[in-house]
Amino acid sequence: MKHVYTLADLRNWGAVTREISPPIRLGVLGNPVRHSLSPQMQNAALRESGIDAQYARFQIRAEELREALRLVPQLNFLGLNLTIPHKIAALPSMDQLDATARCIGAINTVMIRDGMLVGFNTDAIGFSRAVQMEFERTLAGLKVLLLGAGGAARAIGMQCMLEKSQKLWIWNRSQERAREFSAKLHELESSTHVYAVERDDASFYPAIAAANLIVNATSADMHEDDTLLIPPERFTPDQLVYDTIYTPPRTKFLEAAAAAGARSANGLSMLLHQAAASFEIWFDRRAPINVMRAALDCLA
Ligand code: NAP
Repeated sequence: MKHVYTLADLRNWGAVTREISPPIRLGVLGNPVRHSLSPQMQNAALRESGIDAQYARFQIRAEELREALRLVPQLNFLGLNLTIPHKIAALPSMDQLDATARCIGAINTVMIRDGMLVGFNTDAIGFSRAVQMEFERTLAGLKVLLLGAGGAARAIGMQCMLEKSQKLWIWNRSQERAREFSAKLHELESSTHVYAVERDDASFYPAIAAANLIVNATSADMHEDDTLLIPPERFTPDQLVYDTIYTPPRTKFLEAAAAAGARSANGLSMLLHQAAASFEIWFDRRAPINVMRAALDCLA
């Protein structure tokens, strides 16, 4: 099996995969996708469950997505994962959308059913299970400060509403996007109080101080020169701090939280649980979570 396949391979799939056994019937589409950890987790789960299929990476550029999504149902695929930059762009190509995916406005999982593409989002439930695993807490009743308003943040915000967190403050670099996101959440039926906060206004620092759970769902801190979104001295020892980023495993954000005595965790647990939830959608059975975690631990 190749490390990464392309659209050209999909166009010539029969010839490209003639020798491959078990057949590739699942995969992740993204760009970049070379470092995706999903194949290790999903292939371990497939082997453990005795399912005769393999999972591969597909490097698909934005302008190639529509054709790739049109081809896979004809090639006997069971399902897909979508990652950056396809989670929102894939929406119009779906024949059906699950209610959660529609509400979040982004898809990370596709099930191919009778040749039709059905879109799901497992980032929301993946985050919820990750918080339970890392902190032995549910989101119910928590006061949450959420940094970001992109695809991951939307999933996390929606899950906070669903589980009835007490308060949800949303900060985003583009303030307009934070306001739009918070307005959308206000339309949902939930007891959660939602506020869009801005760095310069009077509510930002009180929100940091009052939050039980602070979540980074931005792609900041990926690079050395990014400045910290929360001033390090503002973290407190009683806080839970979650960073959706897992590469590097300890971001500056997490280091600052840990230095202040807060409990902190990186996005590997969310990655694991969103993958397990995808497996459960495709196969309608429990994912072998310990095997998937072991596959991830080998790589971490
Ligand atoms: P996205 O839709 O592209 O959103 C990116 C977000 O990051 C936006 O809120 C953007 O703000 C913000 N941002 C980007 N650069 C920034 C900077 N220098 N300073 C402050 N904010 C910045 O991406 P996404 O899919 O939501 O992914 C966001 C993060 O979540 C990524 O790091 C991704 O790896 C992680 N993630 C992890 C998992 C997991 O399983 N652990 C799952 C999904 C995503 P603007 O709106 O102002 O551009």
